[in-house]
Amino acid sequence: MAKPKASSRRTATPRKPAVAPPQLGPEAGPTFGEMLEQRGLLANTSQATREIIARSTVLAVERSQVTLRAVSCLDCTAAKACCSLVTGAFLYEAVPIAARLIRDGRDTPELREQLRAAAHRMETTHRSRHQHPCVFLGTDERCTIYEDRPSVCGTHLVSSPPAACSDPAARIVKLVGPLQDTVPPQLEEQFCREAGLRRLDVRYRGALPRVVLLCLEAWPRRDYPTFLAERSLPAAHRYAWASR
Ligand code: SF4
Ligand code: SF4
Repeated sequence: MAKPKASSRRTATPRKPAVAPPQLGPEAGPTFGEMLEQRGLLANTSQATREIIARSTVLAVERSQVTLRAVSCLDCTAAKACCSLVTGAFLYEAVPIAARLIRDGRDTPELREQLRAAAHRMETTHRSRHQHPCVFLGTDERCTIYEDRPSVCGTHLVSSPPAACSDPAARIVKLVGPLQDTVPPQLEEQFCREAGLRRLDVRYRGALPRVVLLCLEAWPRRDYPTFLAERSLPAAHRYAWASR
């Protein structure tokens, strides 16, 4: 028996729906803000700085008892000349500040512009000549991010009278040693490792307004390791020049 003739019309094979290729690389990962939250780095970085400041205060008070000189900063109501100096911060110290600004609805284009201008001023003026109030200093001479201020602010303690801080001719007596005596370098290394940041030849550190701005800009980005590495390197060099 002759085979039935095959139909000239072939049945169309149903096409498989197109599958999106898997997302690879940093674009698929969490944003900087999400990563900090997920890895507990927001709380950890804040606590580390609070502990450094608390330890410095204890050291200063102990020393003041030996030298019989009070810690003037603890109840200072004078105009805060110390808040017009070149102020540096590690990136991990800026993280709680940026989180606070975002949480409090203070991350506005105006604030970012102020941070940008302040950072540029701080990075291009030698510290001996820098006299501009910090972006975070309130009109009542109070720090508006006090609980999250960086360690350099919390460890700058003097025993000379508060009025001396505004007088270029007066002698200022600091109560504690330099910042590097109280801030363990491994804190920054640990943060960079846990956050997955790229290794640089410099620390992730810069002028306070610069690193806060960098944090705010990096917050929604998934490519934050590259973004932060590219911007932190020149920021660190400019800060080193200004504070030399
Ligand atoms: S450094 Fe001077 S101005 Fe600043 S808090 Fe201390 S005493 Fe007041
Ligand atoms: S962060 Fe606060 S304590 Fe530090 S310089 Fe600015 S206003 Fe002063």
